[in-house]
Amino acid sequence: MQNFTYTGHSARIVFGSGTLQQVREEVERLGHGRALLLTSPDLADFGDRVEKALGALCAGRFDGAVMHTPVEVTREALAVFEKVDADCVVAVGGGSTTGLAKALAVRTGADQVILPTTYAGSEVTPVLGETDAGVKTTRSSPDILPETVIYDVELSRGLPMSMTVTSAFNAMAHAVEALYAPDRNPLVDGLALDSVRRLARGLRRLSETSTDAADPEARADLLHGAWLAGACLAAVGMGLHHKLCHTLGGSFDLPHSPTHAVVLPHAMAYNAPAAPDVMREIAGALDTVDAPRAVFDLLTASGGPTSLRELGLAEDQLQRAAELATASPYPNPRPVTQDGIEGLLRDAWAGVRPA
Ligand code: NAD
Repeated sequence: MQNFTYTGHSARIVFGSGTLQQVREEVERLGHGRALLLTSPDLADFGDRVEKALGALCAGRFDGAVMHTPVEVTREALAVFEKVDADCVVAVGGGSTTGLAKALAVRTGADQVILPTTYAGSEVTPVLGETDAGVKTTRSSPDILPETVIYDVELSRGLPMSMTVTSAFNAMAHAVEALYAPDRNPLVDGLALDSVRRLARGLRRLSETSTDAADPEARADLLHGAWLAGACLAAVGMGLHHKLCHTLGGSFDLPHSPTHAVVLPHAMAYNAPAAPDVMREIAGALDTVDAPRAVFDLLTASGGPTSLRELGLAEDQLQRAAELATASPYPNPRPVTQDGIEGLLRDAWAGVRPA
């Protein structure tokens, strides 16, 4: 018997193809009529489509969402929110745009309708990371959790392959770490394994079977897997892998999803001796016997980055990265030691297949 506690996070999820057209209805369902539409500068086309679907419900638009949710950008967006007298936010974009929607929601109490275009999973978590003068802080609150998520597979079909692969590995990392979280529970276990299965199937289809990077079946699997992975991230605590990626992104400015992709097989290999049952379950979901190596091979076969070196980390930064990642204790199946983490990072830096 397993003892567990489970806290659910309730959001309305609309999933399908062409669901963008439901955005107006979803805003009205929340009882609102003046939406501030958010997107990033390079996704203005998506902004145009959502604006058209919102019709008269679009009170204003802010296309300035950028990485790391800087507070100065949030202030600019907040000024627009107030100027147009908005009563909710609608965001279309990746984790960065969702971050801006959350930053506005936590300051105004506004409801959020999110249309995700990547596999980051932020849209179903009550967590917000923001940067102020280059310093990143993270907070969690029920106000931050978006009320409605509209997953439209069409919005993800044009995601460039490089970003598709790394973003899918970002999602897979949430699911993998949920399976050995100290607060894991049977519901999240089920979501996590289904997520791993769908993400791997989607990636394999894109890299092996289909000649179409926009393949709707593969894209549906990836988006569905990303939703489940985000739900895992929202429900249980993450371990070594997320700590390493947070350190590498926050202190060495490495890019978010590529860092997740490179580190994941190595974090899994490090934890494998301490979580053999979990690794067997993940291997089962991947139709293989060795989970860390299968994840590395999937990354290679998908054409993803495999080394921290290619992401811009210098070899002489490895020791400092290991020090930072081991400075404060956090739950992880295998004890985290400076030597152990330095070895892990050295392998990830060189891009070798986990032993
Ligand atoms: P992103 O939102 O920064 O997007 C990366 C790039 O891809 C941007 O240039 C964007 O415009 C472009 N893009 C997005 N969707 C596209 C599409 N469909 N087609 C073409 N281009 C597209 O990247 P991300 O990985 O989605 O999000 C990363 C951010 O999200 C990080 O800041 C991370 O900390 C945060 N995050 C937060 C949580 C949470 O729970 N709080 C979870 C995961 C990620």
